[in-house]
Amino acid sequence: MKKYDIVVIGSGLGGLSTGLILAMNGYKVCVLEKNHQIGGTLQTFSRKGCCYDTGLHYLGSLDKGQILYKFFKYFDILDMLELRRMDNNGFDIINLAGTEYKYGMGYENFEKQMLISFPAEADAIKKYITKMKEVSNSFDLYNMRYPVTFSFDSVEALSENLQEYLKSITKNKALQNVLAGINVIYAQSPEDTSVYMHALIFNYYINSSYRVLGGGQKVADAFATAIKNKSGTVITKKEVVKFNYTGNNISSVLTKDGDEFFADKFISNLHPEVTIELAGEEHFRKAYVNRIKRLKNGISNFALHIKLKEKNFPVNQSNYHYYKENSVWGVATYDENNWPKNFLLYTPEDDANQTTTDCISAFTYMKIEELDKWKDTSIEKRGDDYREWKKMKAEKLLELVSEQFPILKNNIDSYYVSTPLTYRDYIGTKDGAMYGIIRDSRNPNESQIMPKTRIPNLLLTGQNINLHGSLGVLISSVVTCGEILGTNELVKQFNDVVKED
Ligand SMILES: Cc1cc2nc3c(=O)[nH]c(=O)nc-3n(C[C@H](O)[C@H](O)[C@H](O)COP(=O)(O)OP(=O)(O)OC[C@H]3O[C@@H](n4cnc5c(N)ncnc54)[C@H](O)[C@@H]3O)c2cc1C
Repeated sequence: MKKYDIVVIGSGLGGLSTGLILAMNGYKVCVLEKNHQIGGTLQTFSRKGCCYDTGLHYLGSLDKGQILYKFFKYFDILDMLELRRMDNNGFDIINLAGTEYKYGMGYENFEKQMLISFPAEADAIKKYITKMKEVSNSFDLYNMRYPVTFSFDSVEALSENLQEYLKSITKNKALQNVLAGINVIYAQSPEDTSVYMHALIFNYYINSSYRVLGGGQKVADAFATAIKNKSGTVITKKEVVKFNYTGNNISSVLTKDGDEFFADKFISNLHPEVTIELAGEEHFRKAYVNRIKRLKNGISNFALHIKLKEKNFPVNQSNYHYYKENSVWGVATYDENNWPKNFLLYTPEDDANQTTTDCISAFTYMKIEELDKWKDTSIEKRGDDYREWKKMKAEKLLELVSEQFPILKNNIDSYYVSTPLTYRDYIGTKDGAMYGIIRDSRNPNESQIMPKTRIPNLLLTGQNINLHGSLGVLISSVVTCGEILGTNELVKQFNDVVKED
């Protein structure tokens, strides 16, 4: 009989980090993953000598003493990763309808780079920087500050609308857009984006930005190794299909291949709606089920992973955010004629010595509704018309990318595409949403999901609990494990481990 203290369902960053924290605290942990590869959206795949990321393409706050550095130190995985600091004077480049603006790394350098583009806007830029620092500093948990005093109700920035705030500090429309230029990494609309979400993510990357050589998979693998070092288990090709109960408690989970895993506690790394479907609606309050079902998921993604004929594309220490129009907002409200309205381009890296590459990835938004015709199909069984449609879309995106990077013209060896259905079916994300549930600044409490559920021994974790992204998900794991270990005890332990830095 496979009996553990804790079974974690799903090996995304949330499942792995939750499993690791508990394994570090002496629990016998088993992480079950449905795919043959662990990591969820940290996964990479290799084709013709290129290693492409399916999701994660940069990490923030990894300079010594910064928050992700501390997390990785706490997890003891720093030595397992090869990191490359991105371009100090432009790790994110925003191109608004042909004009480039660069994000400098570090607040001082950010200010300096912004002033080059907007010399008359010194006041607005200063105000913006002060606000970003203030908001991101106001969350004990985001800074892993002990003791944690925190209440969502008391945080004004949760319901403060970002676009309105930007309008209040400057009339310069280009600056308003450039300051909101990392929109792609939370993919929300002007109506629902809060200063809170923007500030936490902005602050994370502005502190310092890094690529992981070999991609997100290396991060997932490092977590799995660390779990095993603490006597935990990570098992792939184990899709959980059923929960079994003894009274109100879950006694075991059943996997597709007929295996049964018993535990005292279960933690689901899946979307809460998917968890409810698996666990059975009847085990939750109707009002809770309805609330979860009412929550909207964010937009999905169309990814183009390109292999060039020649290895002549400069290795890019920047993420290139291109917007066809003068606005970073509204790219998700496209129609057939004006898609794609934006793209994010970068060069995945697995060799620090390379200066040119033949591997490029480009991403743009896509609504899953566009693929309604194939919604009942599964991987590799969607038919020839799906393949034709994918090709047509890929060529459109390629055309826009090649306009900005003419070096690509007549230089394409091949490309690989993933659509919202790829994300839905490989990762199990609801609606193929890149970042899960939308956090609406107009009703912030509605989208706050607690890890505790009505089932006494079931907790939730992952990007839908707190916030998406590497830091958001790690904080979710702290919140989830806090239900077992005590949040303050865990934050104290974290600080004790990392204190010598
Ligand atoms: C295109 C894209 C780019 C991104 N770029 C960045 C970036 O640069 N930096 C950053 O910090 N963040 C980035 N993110 C966000 C970040 O990758 C995610 O927020 C984070 O990885 C989500 O982790 P998670 O643990 O919530 O779950 P997921 O990654 O969704 O993992 C869930 C896991 O559960 C497994 N699973 C599902 N159903 C079952 C089942 N029944 N049984 C067993 N296992 C199951 C899935 O296979 C998967 O492995 C990006 C995301 C996307 C989509």
